Amino acid sequence: MRITVLAGGVGAARFLRGLRAAVPDADVTVIGNTGDDFTPFGLPVCPDLDTVMYTLGGGISEEQGWGRAGESHAVLGELAAYGAGPAWFGLGDLDIATHILRARLLAEGLPLSAVTKRLCERWQPGVTLLPMSDDPVRTHVTVQLDTGEQELHFQEWWVRLHAAVPARKIEAVGAAQARPAPGVLEALADADFVLFPPSNPVVSIGVILAVPGIAKAVAAQTVVGVSPIIGGAPVRGMADACLAAIGVQTSAAAVAAHYGPGLLDGWLVDEQDKEAVDAPELAGIEVRSRPLYMTDVAASAEIASAAVDLALELRR
Ligand code: GDP
Ligand code: CA
Repeated sequence: MRITVLAGGVGAARFLRGLRAAVPDADVTVIGNTGDDFTPFGLPVCPDLDTVMYTLGGGISEEQGWGRAGESHAVLGELAAYGAGPAWFGLGDLDIATHILRARLLAEGLPLSAVTKRLCERWQPGVTLLPMSDDPVRTHVTVQLDTGEQELHFQEWWVRLHAAVPARKIEAVGAAQARPAPGVLEALADADFVLFPPSNPVVSIGVILAVPGIAKAVAAQTVVGVSPIIGGAPVRGMADACLAAIGVQTSAAAVAAHYGPGLLDGWLVDEQDKEAVDAPELAGIEVRSRPLYMTDVAASAEIASAAVDLALELRR
């Protein structure tokens, strides 16, 4: 069985760990969001790719859901002693090694997809991890500050401001000119079906779909998604602030309606949201309710298994 998954960070990584446990023999390709990529101190950080790589490779900090287990922060401390920021972006010493190597390989001329492959040789994530594009795409958020309207890098809004300042606009800068990375369109075309993990619909899945060619290739497939919204709120993080920026309500049904029946064939919602199963606005999308909290690998595997079963049932 060949499965292709569009992925953000923590929500995707936990779902993927479940998927690997649920269908260990499946050939899984993960198309990762790079809109969150950031270069503090000139280091190329790919938060979503790394969260997937560390989680599936057994190196993730389980408490945080991102970053390395057993991490220390000596380097950031030294930089702070020089008065050099950003101090608000948590970069651990172990993690920094990944970014130093990524910087070197990129400087040698390798595209991000080849660099990611090289990094995965160490972590053996058990999936093929592809960046959505080798071309730079950066998610920018426009906010109204006391000093006037300002366009911020996503990380500055999300991490420094905790998305507490309302976003007026969220834009994937560079997406329109970006090409899908090698293997991305093939993985979508050749898959038996495509899954959307419970990733942020705007800044994770939405940004991947903004790369020309990807949405069309996804729409041509059988697609089953898992709701990141339970009982009218994100399970973790501030996805509600992203949905508000694009005028979509924070509910499992509204997110499915936002993707629409042209993209989604099936949608899993939590038991708390079972009224979505018969929601008239979701005509054309097969909605099922079941527990959707990824409390541990076993729970994530059951969710992944339900998504696979629904995709096989709906497969055209
Ligand atoms: P990020 O890039 O690290 O923000 O990660 P993603 O975009 O992949 O996933 C973020 C989304 O995961 C958030 O909107 C959360 O609501 C969702 N999420 C986190 N944990 C769970 C869970 O246990 N169950 C469900 N259904 N969604 C979750
Ligand atoms: Ca992310």
